[in-house]
Amino acid sequence: MSPILFGSITPALQSLSKRYVLSIGSVDIVPASSGYASPVTHMTALVLALDFGGSKLAAALVDAASGRVVSTLRCATPADAEASYAAMLALARALLIDAPDHPHAVGVSFGGPVQADGRVVRLSMHVPGWNDAPLADWIERDLGLPCAIANDADAAALAEQRYGAGRGLTPLLYLTVSTGIGGGIVIDRRMFRGARAWAGEVGHQTLDPNGPLCACGRRGCLEALASGLSIARAARQELDANEASSLANLPRDQVDARAVAAAAAAGDPLAGAVWDAAMGWLGIGIANAANVLNPACVVLGGGLTQAGDQLFAPVRRIVAERALDPALTVVPAALGEHVGVLGGVAIACNTLWKG
Ligand SMILES: [Zn+2]
Repeated sequence: MSPILFGSITPALQSLSKRYVLSIGSVDIVPASSGYASPVTHMTALVLALDFGGSKLAAALVDAASGRVVSTLRCATPADAEASYAAMLALARALLIDAPDHPHAVGVSFGGPVQADGRVVRLSMHVPGWNDAPLADWIERDLGLPCAIANDADAAALAEQRYGAGRGLTPLLYLTVSTGIGGGIVIDRRMFRGARAWAGEVGHQTLDPNGPLCACGRRGCLEALASGLSIARAARQELDANEASSLANLPRDQVDARAVAAAAAAGDPLAGAVWDAAMGWLGIGIANAANVLNPACVVLGGGLTQAGDQLFAPVRRIVAERALDPALTVVPAALGEHVGVLGGVAIACNTLWKG
């Protein structure tokens, strides 16, 4: 094992890592579940994957060939970039102490825009202090391993195409439908990012020029019409004008997309109308993108897809009406809670090994 990797780990941290429960300041670190994907009998290439999410940090050692998560640790995301980076380093070092083999590389899925070179974070929407942070340089300096980073939607797209619901399918269109709507295009196992890294931004196609304001500053983007935040916003606006809804019993700040979906499923007309409108826009947005790309498959991930058929049935119906390719399928993402770290692995394979 390389002294570069392990030289700065304290005995105290080493002993703590044995129990997989430790804390850094006020940050509690707990073991995450492990054991995704098919079992493997040998290690072909171990990658250290880091997932910087808005609410949690996760680190994992993953067998790159199979996508099997060998070990993983996670913690809540600290309040700023410096503390987040320190916490992630601690997770990584704790994993490396017990690593069964020497990892070949580090791959990072980052919850925010990343520069086209895959080395510098542009910013985080959720955690202050990340602006123009040379994250790949920091990790290479501190862990002594080559590193590549990608935006979380791009990383998830690569992961689903390499290990998940779109395994081996090309081109693949991936959308994450969550608080916002992100997207990624994978062609022949490679992320397609266009001339200046703006490709795949499915969430920012204009669907209603006079529609609601989007986080990007424009009006009527798909994200402003069908994301979790936009569903919540639309429901609150309807409630302000019409109290005849079960949602009116909730405090306004609890009227989120999950509550709207539940009320719609229970037959609430106001919630049903808001949900149906959002699903209509989502279907149109996917069909528009599919008519440009003609993907082999569209994979949908993100929190809203937990609504299951309540989301997929209307979306598939509208896609079938509007997409020119009658064979196009829209399927749920398969990687679940491990999509972030598997995205890190995929971006490492994609960038560092050209594999
Ligand atoms: Zn937008």
